[in-house]
Amino acid sequence: MTRKEILSNVRRVLVKVGSAVLTGEDGLDLTIIEQLVDDIAALRERGCQVILVSSGAIASGKHRLGIEGKLKSIPQKQAAAAVGQGRLMRVYSNAFGKHGLFVGQVLLTMSDITDRKRFLNIRNTLFTLLEWGVITIINENDTVAVDEIKFGDNDNLAAMVANIAEAHLVINLTSTEGLFDRNPNDSKKAKLIPLVTECTPEIEAVATEEGTSVGRGGMKSKVLAAKKVTAFGIPYIIAAGRHPGVLREILDGKETGTLFLPMENHFSSRKYWIAFTLRARGRIFIDEGAKTALVEEGKSLLPSGVTQVEGDFALGDPVTCVDPAGNPIAKGLVNYSADEIRKIMGLKTAKIEQVLGYKDYDEIIHRDNLAVVAKQTLKPKTDERAVLSPSS
Ligand code: GLU
Repeated sequence: MTRKEILSNVRRVLVKVGSAVLTGEDGLDLTIIEQLVDDIAALRERGCQVILVSSGAIASGKHRLGIEGKLKSIPQKQAAAAVGQGRLMRVYSNAFGKHGLFVGQVLLTMSDITDRKRFLNIRNTLFTLLEWGVITIINENDTVAVDEIKFGDNDNLAAMVANIAEAHLVINLTSTEGLFDRNPNDSKKAKLIPLVTECTPEIEAVATEEGTSVGRGGMKSKVLAAKKVTAFGIPYIIAAGRHPGVLREILDGKETGTLFLPMENHFSSRKYWIAFTLRARGRIFIDEGAKTALVEEGKSLLPSGVTQVEGDFALGDPVTCVDPAGNPIAKGLVNYSADEIRKIMGLKTAKIEQVLGYKDYDEIIHRDNLAVVAKQTLKPKTDERAVLSPSS
């Protein structure tokens, strides 16, 4: 499959656009927003569904309030977002209105999607909005999102929404052309990487954390988001948000930006949710035998493979499974509490009842509730490497 073929199958696109693209010296850059909206409307004309994850609330609010310099505290950022979010939506509403399109606003926090029920509710809402042809514009609910509940940045928010909305492609529009082999701000020799077949530590290392004065994530968070999205089997592109017609060019299969190929053997939606949305409440250390069973044989985790338990968690909580070398290899939902596992670890399944006085499950974590994140399970589509290489 060529890049063009991958992209020609795309019918639902998630576009993420950062504050660095949307805002200029005078707050929201209306020309850029109109240009982006025209581009999205053109995709709609071609029969593509589009969901937009847009930043810009804080930057816009700050400008409206005439605040110079950096906002100092989280409450100040939250307050600025309260002012800016409404303005942002009005601008989008006017711009999409010119194309006869309606917009809908969805503001999310992490705690909204760690709850499976609310996750499914959001999903139902998004699918209804898609069915109605409404352009859904999503942002973090900045006014309530602090520490525990914040997505961290909109790159991560978009990665989570890709799962909820079952997007076929994620496009991250940013202030640079894509991912470079070194920081383009520091070196003129920096070269664009057109294709990433796998998010290796080397690829992560070339992306810097430095954000812009208005955006939060920097290139690092875009690459981390790419790693998640591709692990869900969705291609991911980082491209220049200020380039006119960039979305149309991408969908035409033109070599623009950096394309991250989707992984083979990717996660199901539920396992993706377990792996990347839930916050682990503890750690379970497992032996080499259990590691092989989980990673290579796709089996459940049994008490016999557990060597140590860290943390205090209850039935149904998410925990990380760690190998003897200390590497996290999987995340899953436990069938027993931390205290119960401490009592039965190292034992054969048949002994569970003898020790606890009851046995509700054979497994500590059932394979259906286990997302193995170890490298071996998420392989790149090797057969596509050759045909999709930049020179082809
Ligand atoms: N949610 C923030 C805003 O709308 C932006 C977060 C980010 O830039 O990643 O201003």
